[in-house]
Amino acid sequence: MTQETGGFAALGIHPAVLAAITAVGYEEPSPIQAQAIPVILAGHDMIGQAQTGTGKTAAFALPMLSRIDPARREPQLLILAPTRELALQVATAFETYASQLPGVGVVAVYGGAPMGPQLKALRQGAQILVATPGRLCDHLRRDEQLLSTVKHLVLDEADEMLKLGFMEDLEVIFAALPESRQTVLFSATLPHSIREIAEKHLHEPQHVKIAAKTQTVARIDQAHLMVHADQKTAAVLRLLEVEEFDALIAFVRTKQATLDLAGALEAKGYKAAALNGDIAQNQRERVIESLKDGRLDIVVATDVAARGIDVPRITHVFNVDMPYDPESYVHRIGRTGRAGRDGRALLLVTPRERRMLQVIERVTGQKVAEVHLPGAQQVLDARIRKLTAALQPLLAESESSHGELLDRLTAGLGCSPRALAAALLRKATNGQALTLSEVEREQPPVPSVSAPRERRERSDRSMERGVHRERRAPMPLPEGRVRCRAALGARDGIAAKNLLGAILNEGGLARDAIGRIQVRDSFSLIELPEDGLERLLGKLRDTRVAGKQLKLRRYRED
Ligand code: AMP
Repeated sequence: MTQETGGFAALGIHPAVLAAITAVGYEEPSPIQAQAIPVILAGHDMIGQAQTGTGKTAAFALPMLSRIDPARREPQLLILAPTRELALQVATAFETYASQLPGVGVVAVYGGAPMGPQLKALRQGAQILVATPGRLCDHLRRDEQLLSTVKHLVLDEADEMLKLGFMEDLEVIFAALPESRQTVLFSATLPHSIREIAEKHLHEPQHVKIAAKTQTVARIDQAHLMVHADQKTAAVLRLLEVEEFDALIAFVRTKQATLDLAGALEAKGYKAAALNGDIAQNQRERVIESLKDGRLDIVVATDVAARGIDVPRITHVFNVDMPYDPESYVHRIGRTGRAGRDGRALLLVTPRERRMLQVIERVTGQKVAEVHLPGAQQVLDARIRKLTAALQPLLAESESSHGELLDRLTAGLGCSPRALAAALLRKATNGQALTLSEVEREQPPVPSVSAPRERRERSDRSMERGVHRERRAPMPLPEGRVRCRAALGARDGIAAKNLLGAILNEGGLARDAIGRIQVRDSFSLIELPEDGLERLLGKLRDTRVAGKQLKLRRYRED
């Protein structure tokens, strides 16, 4: 066991759970984990104030898994989540953390998918049930005793559940649960309604939250970029094209991520190395020395491994994965702007982490401006700028040292100096794309993240509850989206959530890639990303919803 996972071991987590988190490369508990895990392990009720990005899922999953009895093949732990997306994410996280605990099963129960398989999985003895409240109530109507063996309850993103109108469903679920149970509530905010639930349904809860004391940030130019999680590497590579950096440190969360990103950077010709808790001390020192003297330009590190790095050459800090709290953000970006130099800090934010960005802005009292990925033209300009800068210092002396050779070559080849210079450039630039069309081909657009939070919440509600409002007038489409038509409508007994479920599951899209869904009487309209549309339609060709073919195709309003 490495010294870092010792941080988790000291908290008292089950050895098999510890083994699983070592395997995924977590190095140390995040602040919310360090605080919440002992409280949950001790069996207390708890209110955790934490948003996505703080490591809150593991903060309840790790101790709860340590408390499960694998020998009893019945539901013992219930996690309630506001949306299908979150329920699936939580269920996947549990599967990962339980991977070395034989006999422990996880079932996700959410709207938009048939109930049969969900019920069957439940009957097969899973101990962990992750559910959205609406669908769980549907199950309870069929089987009142479903939750009678549950000993631990987690309400995840409780404020979101209330916003989505799940209050009544929650009451039904509370009533179906045994009185003597442990209840843990996580919420990014604690409005009155949440405090009321806590008062009524939690027993002497302990409070846990991440430190939010005001932090002062050195004078560093800060920016953030919205990006989908699976596009982070592409985004980093694109940004590096245009950022003028001397040395750069990129922060990620896991050991594996340090290796993956450093590998991708090296493959593009950057002098990059990974730094994580598995790397021996003498090797770590060598990496830092190399960063100091310019043999390396980029280090991809976890927080643990980057502790104490003080390299004046660092002009940039890239927060590729979100820091766990504002304090850690301030520490990370403090690696640049040393010795009175200019520093720049960039934060990649996935759609679900928007709140965390707001917390950072609030605690530091500074706005972190949004930037967008550079387009092909900017990449091309930057490449030409770099080439110009590399050639400039050679001009003065080259004519005297190589002028004669040039004359001889042009004479021998029977070509103009321009033709020869072009050939030499081609050789020197080694196949790099240096025209606009080539750069465009090489750099396909990275899908932008645009859906504002408010709209997403509302559409999440309509999905889970099956509510939809019809709008006859076509709405203007957001950039990059096209409208598609499915041959199923309200009269086929389908709701928006069914369509969404089918497209998410079979199309392999991220939730945010799907825009508005309008269910009309005999057909439905769905906003989908233009990029990769043909492939998506191909994948969904045989998809059925409510027993009928989806027959999805591009819709033209004419
Ligand atoms: P959450 O705040 O629960 O949405 O978690 C955000 C991300 O952090 C997830 O991708 C987790 O896999 C990751 N994560 C959680 N805890 C740790 C940890 N202690 N070390 C590294 N990564 C973590």
